[in-house]
Amino acid sequence: MRALDWFLDLLFPPKCALCGRLLDGEEGGICGGCRQQLPFTTGADSLRAGAFGQCAVAFRYEGAVKDGIHALKFGGRPAAARAFAPYLAAAAERFAGEFDAVTYVPVSRERLRQRGYDQSRLLAEAAAALLQAPAERTLEKLRDNPAQSTLSARERQVNVAGVYAPAPGAAIAGRRFLLIDDVLTTGSTLSACADTLRQAGAASVVCAALAAPRGGG
Ligand SMILES: [Zn+2]
Repeated sequence: MRALDWFLDLLFPPKCALCGRLLDGEEGGICGGCRQQLPFTTGADSLRAGAFGQCAVAFRYEGAVKDGIHALKFGGRPAAARAFAPYLAAAAERFAGEFDAVTYVPVSRERLRQRGYDQSRLLAEAAAALLQAPAERTLEKLRDNPAQSTLSARERQVNVAGVYAPAPGAAIAGRRFLLIDDVLTTGSTLSACADTLRQAGAASVVCAALAAPRGGG
């Protein structure tokens, strides 16, 4: 172990990305107990289709995974992104050879300031390293819309219209993207982002999400 890693571990002891328990020399950022109970998607739940196109999904959004993603988004536990990344990358493997770069659903500048990090960017960067593809910022969120979780499916579609735009200087035209989001619910956010990429000339867009509620999408 490098001296710096040792020192950082002392200051910030590694915790399980799901249950928050202190890790005792275990690898991968998820404790043994949680690893045995990961709610992997199976069958139709592992590949959703919608206006966004196709989306590979690693986990059902429930139990400890739900708590872990909540901690990643709101609990100031950015290290959880690295623990989740191998599962996201494994789900996205079904699209191997279909994308040139990995990109993500961004948070707004205001949210980034509040939170200090963009959880989907961290997920995308960690997964991209495993998928041996570049991680690129291609989109920006222009404003904060009301929280999607408080709205109906129809309201969500209206809510995200015009919220995302190509990031200044992003190389989008003619390229194939893997678009990453943390949780796939109705798919309206993912659809808005995929549409923005396609309208900017992307050759194709496939998606991957860390989790989705069972039977949703
Ligand atoms: Zn755990």
